[in-house]
Formats: sequence, structure tokens, C-alpha cells
Amino acid sequence: MSDAITGRRRVPRPENDPNLTYAPGTPARAELKARLATMASETVDIPIVIGGKEIRNSDAQPVVMPHKHGHVLGQFHQATPAQVRQAVDAAMAARKEWSGWSFEDRAAVFLRAAELLTTTWRSTIVAATMLGQSKTAYQAEIDAASELVDFWRFNVAFAQELISEQPDSTHAVWNQMEYRPLEGFVYAISPFNFTAIGGNLAGAPALMGNTVVWKPAGTAMLSAYYVMKLLEAAGLPPGVINFVPGNPVEISDVLLDHPDLAGIHFTGSTAVFNGMWQRVGQNMGKYRGYPRLVGETGGKDFIVVHPSADPQEVAVAAVRGAFEFQGQKCSAASRMYVPRSRWNDIRDRMVAMMKDIKMGDVRDFRNFMGAVIDKKSFTKVSGYIDDAKKNAKVIQGGGCNGDEGYFIEPTLVESADPSYRLLCEEVFGPVLSVFVYDDAKWSEMLQIVDRTSPYALTGAVFAYDRAAVIEASSALKNAAGNFYINDKPTGAVVGQQPFGGARASGTNDKAGSKMNLARWVSMRTIKETFAPATDYKYPFMLEE
Ligand code: NAD
Repeated sequence: MSDAITGRRRVPRPENDPNLTYAPGTPARAELKARLATMASETVDIPIVIGGKEIRNSDAQPVVMPHKHGHVLGQFHQATPAQVRQAVDAAMAARKEWSGWSFEDRAAVFLRAAELLTTTWRSTIVAATMLGQSKTAYQAEIDAASELVDFWRFNVAFAQELISEQPDSTHAVWNQMEYRPLEGFVYAISPFNFTAIGGNLAGAPALMGNTVVWKPAGTAMLSAYYVMKLLEAAGLPPGVINFVPGNPVEISDVLLDHPDLAGIHFTGSTAVFNGMWQRVGQNMGKYRGYPRLVGETGGKDFIVVHPSADPQEVAVAAVRGAFEFQGQKCSAASRMYVPRSRWNDIRDRMVAMMKDIKMGDVRDFRNFMGAVIDKKSFTKVSGYIDDAKKNAKVIQGGGCNGDEGYFIEPTLVESADPSYRLLCEEVFGPVLSVFVYDDAKWSEMLQIVDRTSPYALTGAVFAYDRAAVIEASSALKNAAGNFYINDKPTGAVVGQQPFGGARASGTNDKAGSKMNLARWVSMRTIKETFAPATDYKYPFMLEE
């Protein structure tokens, strides 16, 4: 029995990491600009890291800036199937020691990582996220610095809360709950759009004593690599997290078929997660246990506006919620329902703001938007815009230019058909589609919002009529895992708005919460009897 079950030594109370503003004249801005300049002048050779050893193969892939795709920031090496198997072996070997460490010792590694990230590593991770994923300084700051710091610090506190939960005992019997890591390895697969998610998908199971094979997204490799280096600098032992870039299908073929697969920690698109789930289903009988499947997937996030809403508040929330980070947040507003009586006013305010938005290289801090992540995404989103030009009305934006960087203007589309595909499908770009409804049909509208898409990630209602808020909250109970009242549907903060959705948006295990951490442990109940029975007969059997 390890002292992992005790949880007696109190960990520091977490507080949300304050965002730096990077306003002109601040030292943080000067440091970030300097880091951007050096990083843009280097080419980084990103290895596979297995059991703490860096491995380089011959078929490296380039890492480029989405806003200037001719600029190569580095290259990453791709793991072969044999190396993926070695990564599992390294994880299984490291598991023996790591799972035996006390919770507090594992926690110390992540607390140190958080402290390094908020201080000496901050500008590196923020700059890598800006250059590699085309986030503005502020968008990179709230993701790669603050959110990742929060994940690591809050998870430690949540984990302690979890493992401190112990059953009742009596004077004769002592009951204990041991929070064991899963028996096997965890496969963490991260998306391109949040640096913090990669650090959490790999970090949360590791904190709970598991060892991990981490496959980062090919289009977020620079920041993922620096996160890996930071964890090493914080004292993460070799083999606890194995960094395995490469072809996702080849890597998954090896890992999903492996008998020691104990869990999948995934964030990305619904189709990819569904494919993994199916593969695991087909493989049942091959595994040692039932793999835990945790996945946060796509969204078709809504804003529903009631006639009692404030038009300026709605317009600002829609512009920020739909277009920040080019609409590439799983939570980005991408469909909006507006009463006819308010539409012209809200539309005009939005159009004025959209005309004012600057888009371009994120190293120019005046820009509000950068480029979409890659050519595939550019082609997909511009295809949706072409469709809107033919089958709906493009009110503002609609321009796409991929010559130098993958730029797509913030685009506002109006459709008279609530089942039009841009109101139903996940676009994952800076496109907000609007349906204008008759004011008298508010209740009917809520039913349409609920039925329109298979997803249920985030959604917002704007209304100052409390009865309307109550009605929307009830009618849309299952339409969003994160529901906002008079706020944009993006920007969840760890510890404040635990994040995740249901229906086709995922398993809703709420990243950065006690619920999520509970998925990475398999509990053992221990009953100890101090004076065991010495007679097999029970008292009721005695003679009168
Ligand atoms: P994606 O599904 O294309 O990729 C996610 C990860 O899966 C990447 O590491 C990728 O390499 C890997 N992958 C791709 N194809 C695979 C396959 N066939 N087998 C195994 N792995 C495979 O997603 P993305 O474009 O990186 O990210 C955007 C998606 O992620 C959107 O759908 C967005 O809504 C979703 N997302 C959801 C949340 C959430 O919390 N719900 C958060 C962020 C992103």
C-alpha cells in the first residue's frame, strides 16, 4: 500500500494565473517581442522523445507559420510503428517507479512546471503558440500561459480533494480507498488549437500516477515540443510522458491494438474520436481491462438573442466569440438567432466592428486576427463561404486569400433557412451564420436551436427578461455543456467554468476538474478487520 492514498500533506491553494496585457511600454511586451524575433530566426529540429531519449528519423515534416507559410520554423520527426511500440515499452517501464511515488511528489513536478511556465518559460511558450498556431499575443497568453498554468495547479488541488475522499470506518474495521493509476498506459491525442490542452491531456493522467504516450497535432508541434521540454525541466522522469509526433493513423494503429491500452485522453474532431471508439470496440477481448475513453470533440456553438437583450452587448459578444483566434475554438460562436425587431441594429453594430478588425501577421500587435491553421482548413472554410455566396447572403467579409498566409476575413452570413448547412455543421473558421426569427416565435426558436445540430458544447442566451432566461435555460438544458447567460460562449477559465459538452461534443468529463481526474484512477477498497471472527456460527444460531 503506497502513501498515495493519504493525501494528508496540503498542496498550495490554487489561484487563476493573471493574464499579462502586453500593453505598449510593459516589460512583458518587450520580452515577448524579443523572443518572437529570435524564434522566427531559428529552425528547431523537433525529435521524438521516448524514455527521455531524443530520436530523429529521416522523413521530417516542416513546421511553418500559418500567417506566412513560406517561413519555416523548424521540422519534426515522425515516429515509425516500431518506435511507437518502444514508446509503450518506455511508458510501461517508467510506470513501475512513477506509480510508486507519493501523490505529493508527483504533484511537485507539475507545480514546478506551472511556476516555470508563469515565469522563465512564459515568453517561449507564448511565442511558439503565436508563431506556430497564428494566435495573437493575448490569445496565446490566455491559452498557452494562463490556462496551462491553471490546469497544472488546479489539477493538483482537485487530485488532493479526490484522494482525500475516504469511506467511513468503525472501531473494529478500518476502510480505506486507494486511488491506483490505471493498469497500462494512457494514449493522449491533442488538437492544434490549444497549447494548454496538450499539456493537460498528457499531464492529468500522469499526475494521477499513469504513464503516457502523447501524440501532439502536426500543426501545433512547436508549442507542444516546448511544453515537453518544460516538463522535463520541471523534473518529469524519463518515460512518464513519451512525445510521439507522426502519422496519426499509423500511431493509432499500434496504440489502439495494444493489450496495455488503459485509457484514451482525446480532444479533437468528433469523427476522429468516433473512429477510435469503434476501433476499441472491435478490440474488446484483446485488452487487459476496459480502456477509459475520454474525449472532448466538436461543437456548433450558439448565441440566442431575446428581444430584451442589449444590442451592443450582443454585437461585442458575437464579434469576440465568433472571430477571436479565427473562430478556431471548439467553443466559438458559429450560429446566432436574432429577433427581427433587433436584427438591423445588431447587424449594423457588428458590421462596423468587423470593418474595423485588422488581420495579418500576429507579430504586428495591432492585429485582432491571424490566419487559419493550414491549407486544408483554408480550403474547407473558403468552401463554406463559397456555398454561402450561392445559397445564403454574405453580409460582411467573405474574402479569402491564401497566397502568403491562410487568411480568411471575418464573415457574417444570413440564411432564411434554419436548417441551412452553415447553421448546422462545424465550420471551424471565422464564419458566423445568423437566422432571424419572428419575435413572437421565441419558444419555437429555442426548440429549433436544440434540434439543429448533433453537438452540445457551448451556447449563450442574451436576455434581460428573467422569464426568458429561465425558459431558454430549461429548453436548452441538453444543448450545451457550458451555458452562458449574457456572455460570449468562449473563454472558459479552469476552476471557474469546468469545460466540456455532451451529445456529439464528447464524454463531458470536464477538463481541469475532479471528475476528469477520477477517470485516470482505478480505486481499490481496502477493509482491515482488527479482531477477526473466531467462530463460524452466528449468535442467532445459539440454543435458547
Ligand atoms: P482533429 O480531429 O483533426 O485532430 C485531433 C488530433 O487527432 C490530432 O492530434 C490529429 O493528428 C489526430 N488525428 C487526426 N486523424 C486521426 C486519426 N484518423 N486517428 C487518430 N488520430 C487522428 O482536430 P483538430 O483539427 O486538431 O482540432 C479541431 C477539432 O477539435 C474541432 O472539431 C474542435 O471542435 C475540437 N476541439 C474540441 C475541444 C473540446 O473541448 N470539446 C477543444 C478543442 C478542440
